[in-house]
Amino acid sequence: MNRPYYPVLVILVLLIAACNSQADKSKIAEHLPVPFEYALVLHGGAGSMNFENFPEPRQQHYKHSLDSALQLGLDVLEKGGGSIDAVELVIRCMEDNSLFNAGKGAVFTSEGKNEMDASIMTGEDLNAGAVAGVTNIKNPISAARAVMEQSKHVMLAGEGASVFAEEVGLEIVDPSYFYTKHSFESFQRAIEKEKHGTVGCVALDRNGNLCAGTSTGGMTNKKYGRIGDSPIIGAGTYANNRTCGVSGTGHGEFFMRWIVAYDISALMEYKGMDVEEAAQLVVMDKLVKAGGSGGVICLDRYGRPAMVTNTAGMFRAYGNSDGDRVVAIFNLMR
Ligand code: ASP
Repeated sequence: MNRPYYPVLVILVLLIAACNSQADKSKIAEHLPVPFEYALVLHGGAGSMNFENFPEPRQQHYKHSLDSALQLGLDVLEKGGGSIDAVELVIRCMEDNSLFNAGKGAVFTSEGKNEMDASIMTGEDLNAGAVAGVTNIKNPISAARAVMEQSKHVMLAGEGASVFAEEVGLEIVDPSYFYTKHSFESFQRAIEKEKHGTVGCVALDRNGNLCAGTSTGGMTNKKYGRIGDSPIIGAGTYANNRTCGVSGTGHGEFFMRWIVAYDISALMEYKGMDVEEAAQLVVMDKLVKAGGSGGVICLDRYGRPAMVTNTAGMFRAYGNSDGDRVVAIFNLMR
């Protein structure tokens, strides 16, 4: 080939490549959903609650609590706050509400004590923090956040977690603070009637960052020292900006062995599933076949939710920047 043609040829090739990549980009853009500016989903536990046997005033009481927690988180996001602040605030609010099995309303162990677990994870950097088996930290979710932000570790347990929480200035309470008539009665009737109400939240902020958190008193009548899925990153909590944020609730031993939260993210990342498909597969197929009861709330990176449970109900709520809002307890969005 004649030398003078080289530059022309190179320019032509570059032009064609540029046009193709433009075409690719607009093709992708056409198929991507438009992200919500922000979104938040939360749960207050899954269980065998039954529409017929659940008195209407009690349903309203739960729905009101779910709705106010949702509003608190949406307000943070609306003002441009970070998803981590929204998640911590929502979970603290639910921990302070004795309706739920977390913080104040935590259930009792077989020894009549309260041992709580919590975790938090940010999807931007896959950073995470957790506390397990804590007995005197008023808001375990804040301790989880402190472990993430103010220690070199991911999880602190028992006494050590309490000492750390006190050192970083978190509120320590006498263990009697966690005694509530309702959880004590449910402890006494534990075998036939368990209290549900682990709490969890996933938020997407205006910067496109996902955060997920979970807090629980664990399973009613659990053996002392038992740690569930809620503080285990990948089992009860997971967040990754490439895929989704997840918080789970249910029989923790199954969520740990089936690595539920991470599995949903992995199905999205490696199999290209959308968040609803992935959550359905894990909760309604894999967990059901395994005999594990429970549910999850998820948000994908566009702020689209999945709220899936294989139990009769799951206390849950979702809202976003477009004003969509759902508060429900039972299946069929009731
Ligand atoms: N997953 C929690 C645990 O096993 C309990 C629950 O969500 O109800 O500790």
